[in-house]
Amino acid sequence: MLDSVLLALFLPCLGMSAVFIVYMCLLWYATNHHSQLPLPAKPVSNTGLSPSQLDNLPRIAGKDLVLGTECAVCLDEIGTEQPARLVPGCNHGFHLECADAWLSNHPLCPVCRTKLDPLLFTPSHSDNNNPC
Ligand SMILES: [Zn+2]
Ligand SMILES: [Zn+2]
Repeated sequence: MLDSVLLALFLPCLGMSAVFIVYMCLLWYATNHHSQLPLPAKPVSNTGLSPSQLDNLPRIAGKDLVLGTECAVCLDEIGTEQPARLVPGCNHGFHLECADAWLSNHPLCPVCRTKLDPLLFTPSHSDNNNPC
């Protein structure tokens, strides 16, 4: 009689303990496993600009540069008749090829790190695309 009462109490306890232990193991496994994962990719977009976006950037001659004529990408002088690219927003200028090579990998100005807003390149959206 006493034995069966003890057993009736003991069995649920055992079951609970087993569930608890399994749960703890899973938890430990999850945390352990998680910490071994490589850090998630940086949220910073490293995609740079597409060729069509590059085409939309101001294209000027070296003589029209306003903020000096040294190209910060190749550290060379930009000739007065050489084609140059102007970064909208900060007006820093670079050789056309240098700017395109840099900007296709980094969407920011190599001198002052001004971010190139993709919205700069998209033709103005029609204003009547309200969500409602
Ligand atoms: Zn250059
Ligand atoms: Zn700049």
